Parts: sequence; C-alpha cells; structure tokens
Amino acid sequence: MTGVPDTKRLRRIVVAGGGTAGWMAAAALARTLGHAIEVTLVESDAIGTVGVGESTIPPLATYNRLLGIKEAEFMAATQATFKLGILFDGWKDGSDRYFHSFGLTGKDHWSAGFQHFWLHGRAKGHAEPYDAYCLELVAALEGKFAHLPDNRLNYAYQLDATRYARFLRTMAEADGTRRIEGRIAQVELDGERGDIAALVLESGQRIEGDLFLDCTGFRALLIEQTLHAGYDDWTHWLPCDSAIAVQTESVGPPLPYTRAMAHDAGWQWRIPLQHRTGNGLVYCSRYLGRDAALDRLLGNLEGATRTEPNHLRFVTGARRKQWHRNCIAIGLSSGFLEPLEATSIHLIQRAVLRLIRMLPLAQVSECDITEFNDQQLTDMEQIRDFLILHYKATERRDSAFWRQCATMEIPDSLAHKIDLFRETGRVFRKNEELFAENSWVQVMMGQGIEPRAWHPIAEKLPDEELARLLGTLRDSVARTVAGLPRHADYVARYCGAAAEQAA
Ligand code: FAD
Repeated sequence: MTGVPDTKRLRRIVVAGGGTAGWMAAAALARTLGHAIEVTLVESDAIGTVGVGESTIPPLATYNRLLGIKEAEFMAATQATFKLGILFDGWKDGSDRYFHSFGLTGKDHWSAGFQHFWLHGRAKGHAEPYDAYCLELVAALEGKFAHLPDNRLNYAYQLDATRYARFLRTMAEADGTRRIEGRIAQVELDGERGDIAALVLESGQRIEGDLFLDCTGFRALLIEQTLHAGYDDWTHWLPCDSAIAVQTESVGPPLPYTRAMAHDAGWQWRIPLQHRTGNGLVYCSRYLGRDAALDRLLGNLEGATRTEPNHLRFVTGARRKQWHRNCIAIGLSSGFLEPLEATSIHLIQRAVLRLIRMLPLAQVSECDITEFNDQQLTDMEQIRDFLILHYKATERRDSAFWRQCATMEIPDSLAHKIDLFRETGRVFRKNEELFAENSWVQVMMGQGIEPRAWHPIAEKLPDEELARLLGTLRDSVARTVAGLPRHADYVARYCGAAAEQAA
C-alpha cells in the first residue's frame, strides 16, 4: 500500500478576500475538513467588498443545509425573504411581462414535457395561460408563501449578502478559521515551481500556504495579477458593462420575487428584503452615459434612498484557467455573468463544493486541475447561453441597444437550443445543466418563441380527457395557492428579524 507521508500532506489553505466568496469558501472548508486542514482568511476592511448580490437561486438552500445552517436563523440574520422566481417586464416588446419561476409547470410525461400537452390543449381551445399551471408562479404573483409538505414549493432567498458573509464568518471562526485583517501588498512565488508560496501584507506579515483561493473580487490579485491565467471576454454576447446599485426603504410588504425591468439600454432590478429593497440599473455604457443612467435609476425607485449610489464596471466573461497552479479563483475573480438570473453566488457554491470534492491529499494533480476547469467553464457557458437568450429573443427594436441584441451572432449551442424548441417544443438538459427544461420553456415562451409542433404523445388523450387533465392541474394550483398565507406574514412569523438588527 502506498501512503503520503505526513510532511507532504496538503494542510494549509489560504483564502485571499473576505467577501461572499471568501467566507462561503472558508465556512465550508472549515466545517467539512477542519480536522485535517488549517484555513486562514485574509481580508482588508480598508478595501471592503463589492457590496451587492442579493438575489439567489434554490440550490443555496442545499449549501446551507450541508453546512448545518438553520434556515430561520440564517434568514433572520440576513433579513432574507423567500424568492419564487423573477418577473421580467418589457423584455419581449417593451410592454409585456412574463415570469421565470423556480417550480415545475403542470405535469410531465416521461416522453414529453408538459408544454407539449398544453400546446395541443391550446390548439383545441382547452388551455388557460401556461402560467396558470405553475404553483410557484401563481403563488408569487399573489404574494403568498409557506413551506409545504414534500417541499412542493421550490424557492430561493433574497438576502443581504454583506450580512450573509458576516453570518458565515462567525461560523467559520467558530470552526477554527483564522482571520487576518490587512492589505495584501505582494504575492510571493516559489522560484522553482512558479506556485504561490505566500501572501505578504503591508504590515510585513507573511502568510504561507499550500493552496490559495483567490477571492479578491474583480481585482483577481492572485489568479490574474500574479499568475496571468487569462480571461475570455463575452461582451459581444452580453454587452452590458456597468451597474449602479442603491438601497431604498420598503414601501410595502416584501414580495416573494425579484423584478427585472428592461429599459432601452439594459435593465433594472428590484429585490425586496425584510427591511429594505435592493435596486440597481444594469446598462451598456456604449448607449447610456453614467449620469443619464443614474437619473434613470433614481427616477424609477419606489422608496426613499438609504445609501449613496454604488457605481460598478465589469467585463462579462470567464477566467481561462480558474484553477491554475496552486491557486483557485472563486467568486468575481473567476469571471462575471451579469445578475439577470442571479447566478453568481451559485457559481461560488458550485466552485467551493467542486473544490471540496477534488481536494488533493498532497500535491495538486494536473488531472484535477483540468477536470475542475472543464466543469467550471461548462457551468459558466451554460448560464451564459441562458442569459443571452433574454437579449437575443426580443421583438424590441426601439433603441440601438436592442437592435444590436436582436441582430447579434449567438453561440451555436444556444442557436441549436432555440431552433430545436421552435421546431419541436423540445428542450434537453445536458451535463448537469443548472437551468432545467421548465426554465428554458418559460423564458423562451415569455420572450415570444412559440413551438411549431408538439410531441405526438399529446394527441393520445381524447379531447375530453385532455380538457379534464388540464382543468385538474390548474384547479389544484389555484386551490393550493388559495390556502397559502401572505408571504410577508409568513416571513414575519418564521424569521422576522428583531428591529434593532434591521438598523
Ligand atoms: P468582493 O465582495 O469584491 O470581495 C473581495 C474581497 O477581497 C474583499 O474582502 C476585499 O477586501 C478583499 N481584497 C481585495 N484585494 C485585497 C487586498 N489587496 N488585500 C486584502 N484583501 C483584499 N450575485 C448573485 O448571486 N445575485 C445577485 O443578485 C447579484 N447581483 C450583482 C449585481 C452586480 C451589479 C454585481 C457587480 C454583482 C452581483 N452579484 C450577484 C455577484 C455578487 O456580488 C458576487 O458574486 C459576490 O458578492 C462575491 O463577491 P466576491 O467575494 O468574489 O468579491
């Protein structure tokens, strides 16, 4: 039997950066592997964090569960609300609305998704709007929520990410993570191998490690500034490159969904938390100037502002090697996809869990690096395609921005998906793709892509049986939603944060 001598084992993981990425990584590593490794996190209060990132998707609940986090405690600490999906305003033709929910719609047959039965039913004059068959969607629009038996309601959270990082920090420190405050002035390389040997702080303190996680945000201090891992720019597909974020007072009970309102050079988000609302304008600087963007955002807020506007610039794309040598980029340092479908925190989660699965016993293996990078890139490319869909499949021609989106070339992978759906009504999920059939169908139909055909199985049912099936599914959704409490009341009871915490 071969073994790895104690002196060669990988023991010291150094996390550079204490934003959401840094603390999500440190908390998970310390909780899962704290018995075998030392976790040290360096962060600089003077630099601070990006300060945005409030809307999430359902897998975050799994991440929290893996870490043993109690949901109500976490929600109270982060002022979180439940999120059942996203309401898109004005993406198709400027005056439309559609909803991308986290649930399933209707009931699939093993051979064909529910959309095939609905399309056939509509042609026969039996079907209600597609939305009426989705529990999460109807509940969201009626402002209702509760935990249901068998987890029948699929949900995520709208949260204060700064508070989430703080919450995770408490956990990580209790599990043995060492936190060091200070600005990293230099990243020292091992002369022979070219790996990172240590971080050197402005104070002169030297922090050695075996493995380094670059969680320094857009700066990418280790992976790019030091190791020059390279970056693939996807701006030609996702042209927005700027954002402004501002918090406002709540003006009413929080809704269980995020809003994404299209404007003539991008879109605006509205994310209701328990104590406040997160707002932001995402825009393409080629078509909208900074001052005009700020005016537009401030002119479309519902409550009084609580913070100064936070201006951000970004380049959409992916770090070419997210794991390079003994350094792994997690969070904004690994690339950026705009927050339209709230996927960034999820990508942090995927990277952290992937790393834990691939953590070497001793020396880093090139095979692990290749596998990790392949999987990360696949995740990002699939999400990228889903985001491009929202821009490409538009009927809007009212501004240069939308005309550019409508006429741009798109990746072959996405073109195929759209063609397949348009011609056959089919969607296939490949390689553990994050967004499943229901997401693609809701967004494609919402954006105006109508299938020309349906699966022949949909015609197997006689007319009256099809009508009965559709009616039963729709009534079951309506009945369940009628029995749900108001989301705001449920949140207040389940995880209402104490008034002093909200300050
Ligand atoms: P940061 O928060 O920037 O943290 C970087 C850390 O590195 C900080 O602690 C900083 O102090 C430290 N650091 C940097 N340099 C040094 C140095 N030299 N020495 C010491 N420390 C250093 N995600 C979602 O999932 N949902 C959303 O709704 C969402 N909305 C977004 C909206 C916008 C406009 C943007 C830009 C992003 C959004 N995101 C969203 C992404 C989300 O904000 C990030 O994924 C998340 O905050 C993680 O950031 P981070 O930890 O990688 O970087």
